[in-house]
Amino acid sequence: MEALLKVSNLKTYFSTSSRQVKAVDGVDFEVKKGKVLCIVGESGSGKSMTSLSLMGLVPGPNGRIVEGEVMFDGEDLVKMDEKRLSDLRGNKMAMIFQEPMSALNPLFKIGEQIMEVLMRHRKLSRNEARSKAIAQLRSVGFPQPEMIISSYPHQLSGGMRQRVMIAMMMACEPKLLIADEPTTALDVTIQAQVLDLMRNLKHQTGTAIIFITHDLGVVAEMADDMAVMYAGQIVESGAADVVFDKPLHPYTLALMGSIPSITEDNERLITIPGTVPSAANFPVGCRFAERCSMARGSCHTSMPELRELSPGHFVRCALV
Ligand code: ADP
Ligand code: MG
Repeated sequence: MEALLKVSNLKTYFSTSSRQVKAVDGVDFEVKKGKVLCIVGESGSGKSMTSLSLMGLVPGPNGRIVEGEVMFDGEDLVKMDEKRLSDLRGNKMAMIFQEPMSALNPLFKIGEQIMEVLMRHRKLSRNEARSKAIAQLRSVGFPQPEMIISSYPHQLSGGMRQRVMIAMMMACEPKLLIADEPTTALDVTIQAQVLDLMRNLKHQTGTAIIFITHDLGVVAEMADDMAVMYAGQIVESGAADVVFDKPLHPYTLALMGSIPSITEDNERLITIPGTVPSAANFPVGCRFAERCSMARGSCHTSMPELRELSPGHFVRCALV
């Protein structure tokens, strides 16, 4: 199937005079039209920096894309100027974050904020934008959208704000929606509702979604395709059913075998002995070797390539 987005050898580093943090270090993946790609990995593996890189939102001046290509709908986002990128954002591609409060302006009513997006990107009149905003809010499950549009962000719960963000982003019918841990801050029941909502919207609008999470349970529910990230790289990717059925990278195996421990906020934590190496000081060989029960000598000295072991199934491990 045709790719909407194709990321090749993407590298995003933070550099200061004293050190270099390789947040994203040679990432390859693609997103098919209308499909959900889940990117999963432990905290610090580079998931957020990957998504910010795609949106042209890497925090400068220290952070920047140093190498790679991001082909989106026929154009390379890495080479695109800021004006053109900001036209694309909220239009052909949109992003929702873990904490929607950060993306909503506390000083303006919800309705004004959704209408602003619609007037700017879809060139609707005020009246058209108002009707569309109401329709969008209804579509994300608010039975009385007229009440929501005249509310301020702080008057809504976290789950309601996240649904508002989804309504706002989907209003522009983007070709690609990037959702960076959109349900992590929500309690489990609300989380399930938001996931349902995103799945429905995907079916209705054909929007492709990059869904970032550290929760494999969420991947199992949402993903058509998945990519497992570790220490700034993809270590395994492919169709979600194939990867779940036959995980090949020792890290993926460890993730899938790891016992979920339920913490107070119901977050499923990944528990694999050892820690992710520092992005300021990666080892020369395989970045998982330190924690890998199968590692041999050569794993510590040479970095394995991401290889296609069966059609569409990629693995970065010398042992498989
Ligand atoms: P994830 O989203 O998977 O938890 P991130 O993409 O946020 O991971 O971070 C990847 C790496 O980049 C981490 O090592 C993190 O410390 C580093 N990093 C993130 N933001 C900055 C920054 N502004 N300056 C320097 N390093 C950063
Ligand atoms: Mg993150």
